[in-house]
Amino acid sequence: MSGRNGFERGMWTHSMPDDLQTGYDPTLGNKFIFVTGGVMSGLGKGITAASIGRLLINAGFDVTAVKVDPYLNVDAGTMNPYQHGEVYVLKDGAEVDLDLGNYERFLDIDMTSDHNVTTGKTYQHVIERERSGDYLGRTVQIIPHITDDIKRRIREAAAGTDVCIVEVGGTVGDIEGMPYLEALRQFAHEEDESDVLFAHVTLVPYSKNGEQKTKPTQHSVKELRSIGLQPDVLVGRSEHRLTTSTRKKIALFCDVPTRAVFSNPDVDDIYKVPLVVEDEGLDEYVLEHLGLADRALTSDARDTAWRETVLQDADETIDIALVGKYALEDAYMSIYEALKHAGFELGVDVNVKWVASDEMTDTHHDRLNSATGIVVPGGFGSRGTEGKIAAIGHARTEGIPFLGLCLGFQMAVVEYARNVLGLDGAHSTEVDADTPHPVIDLLPEQHELDELGGTMRLGAHETQIESGTIAHEIYGDTSCTERHRHRYEVNPNYIEALTDAGLQFSGWCGPRMEILEIEEHPFFIGTQFHPEFRSRPGRASPPFIHFLEAAIAERHQTREVEA
Ligand code: GLN
Repeated sequence: MSGRNGFERGMWTHSMPDDLQTGYDPTLGNKFIFVTGGVMSGLGKGITAASIGRLLINAGFDVTAVKVDPYLNVDAGTMNPYQHGEVYVLKDGAEVDLDLGNYERFLDIDMTSDHNVTTGKTYQHVIERERSGDYLGRTVQIIPHITDDIKRRIREAAAGTDVCIVEVGGTVGDIEGMPYLEALRQFAHEEDESDVLFAHVTLVPYSKNGEQKTKPTQHSVKELRSIGLQPDVLVGRSEHRLTTSTRKKIALFCDVPTRAVFSNPDVDDIYKVPLVVEDEGLDEYVLEHLGLADRALTSDARDTAWRETVLQDADETIDIALVGKYALEDAYMSIYEALKHAGFELGVDVNVKWVASDEMTDTHHDRLNSATGIVVPGGFGSRGTEGKIAAIGHARTEGIPFLGLCLGFQMAVVEYARNVLGLDGAHSTEVDADTPHPVIDLLPEQHELDELGGTMRLGAHETQIESGTIAHEIYGDTSCTERHRHRYEVNPNYIEALTDAGLQFSGWCGPRMEILEIEEHPFFIGTQFHPEFRSRPGRASPPFIHFLEAAIAERHQTREVEA
């Protein structure tokens, strides 16, 4: 099969031994959309890319995505939420950039570690191969060894799907991104022209007198072209839609047809981006360019569930307090999204109010009182834990619906031990190594492992659910599979005392307690796992739906009392 310019596939690697050739099977027939960004980061390139994917799924195609993160970290596991937002966890336990969460939510797919290509992973793999002699004494170089590895990863992730969207993090011109752009250039060269589409997302700012400025776009396309990439499609992120004259100007100077220049204006909700992009006709253009138009469902037959979910009217707005330590929405992104999905399900808007856990003491309850539900999210380290415990105590004693996630679950156990069992100073050994009552601790076998490092429990694990409990009602089943990211557990020595005092553990996995509940409460649920990672628009997470339902009921009751 010949690629662009009639060049034979694999010719450029003619001097390489067979085992170093990429493992591409040409019969698979995948299509690829490569998405790059220009001008500045944080433009919502990932949301644009995911939106295209959603529309292709609605049109009947199997779509997957690969996020390329050009940083040297192997994964996002150790990254600071202040810099990168939350660490998102995949079912296989991979700790990845939160952008993968957007792909999972928009495409409604489960991704794996293979869908997140980082420079750290690529270099680590190539260097390991070099150490074990795989390169037979050759000089190991960025081109071809790193670029080959990048191409291999993309092809493997695409296997078995119709379309694979590859988003390159950062902006064109970043030194870190260069090997990826070179790999994509080669990739396109090896494929048929109609199998690859390059989309470039840039910023179109306004001048003081309200004119849309195309220069930044022109410069970033020039930068792309200087490394041998010609975009097929340009998407201009701007406050409003691009005017016809802006589109024409971009088309002329960036050498694309005017109908290949699309707008992506600001919207009030990211889930509306697929609808905006659809109105622009971007999906049709992509289908046509990739030769998929004939195989696509007709517009009448396309899946409209997304549109219906996103555009429904909300009856009311429910205030939920999120008691966490980071003053940054991105640090809790999946929780915000899961609450939004539950809102879609129940026909309400959710207004999440962040309450700083390190400023929360038991004299600050007024901050929580205006909310009809309290969420205490996951976290690591000691900062803000006393505030979380105070908020949980308030929710418990005042009958405010409560959802505790991971650290929030653990702190609910601590609160109960201190204030109901009277175990003064009870704590998690993560926070207080010398606590007289280590109600949250490492399991004995983890203590041994801890000396070797790497004890984090990650990814999807099955939880057994006790029949007849609230957890059973929530999940409608006697088991659930949710994602985890934690090290500490409920200490088995305290389970009996806690249970006798009214804190029920209704879900477990072997010796590990996974779900807690208090029957005599409007809604008091904690989970050691993170249900937020499996929540999707149109398929909200059960604990979030039930929590919000309880908050709505609480709100109506308060209104009745006031009236
Ligand atoms: N820090 C706690 C642990 O390691 C909770 C982790 C979390 O909330 N993700 O167990």
